[in-house]
Amino acid sequence: MANFNTHLSVAIAASAGVALVAVNINIMTITDAPWMIVFGAIGGMLPDIDSGNSTPIKLFFTTLALIALLTVVNVFKNGYQPYIVLLMAGAAYIVVRYALLSLFDRFTSHRGIFHSILTATFFCLLMVCIGCYLLHWDILHSWLSGFFIGFGFIVHLLLDELYSVDLSNKRMKKSFGTALKLYSYNNKITSALMLAVTVGLAWITPQPQPLIKAWQAQAIPHLLAVKSIITAPIVKKTNQK
Ligand SMILES: [Zn+2]
Repeated sequence: MANFNTHLSVAIAASAGVALVAVNINIMTITDAPWMIVFGAIGGMLPDIDSGNSTPIKLFFTTLALIALLTVVNVFKNGYQPYIVLLMAGAAYIVVRYALLSLFDRFTSHRGIFHSILTATFFCLLMVCIGCYLLHWDILHSWLSGFFIGFGFIVHLLLDELYSVDLSNKRMKKSFGTALKLYSYNNKITSALMLAVTVGLAWITPQPQPLIKAWQAQAIPHLLAVKSIITAPIVKKTNQK
């Protein structure tokens, strides 16, 4: 199994490659690239939040707890005494960071639903919604960040599968096929729940039209230009014959 550092470095390298191409074909600007690489790296760590006491799960729940803390402060800051707001914020942090984490740990198994394309789709759409509705980014950037989260996620699953092929003995390890799967075949109930939540998210996610438009307006002419440069000598040769 690939460790945390391997997953992180591969996700960063792969996202940097895709970001470079996206900048080159004018889908995004060079200043967007570092952010998108960060999203790719986050996506690359997300699948392992199901493995007990792993670093990603702790990071994930600490982030969630901080979001909960800030939300409580923002919602209640005008209606209550500061010390009460602080107490409530502290309680929210502890509930999310410790109680929710141990609950989550109880109901998930490693390489269960979190190692699946369904969950990659869920996190992609979740990021689009967070970008669009919470952070008020434009739809193009919300979709780009969602895409990079999903991309990093899939890279992680592929890497896990790659590590389950024992090249020296030319055989498959037991873990083969447990990472890159459509949904959790062993746990139909969590799969059904994840599907329901993902469909719900898809319902409220804004259409990716700006991303498709950017692709059609920028990428396709660019790719055609590259194609004509490559095929020009061949066409010339056949004309000369
Ligand atoms: Zn994994």
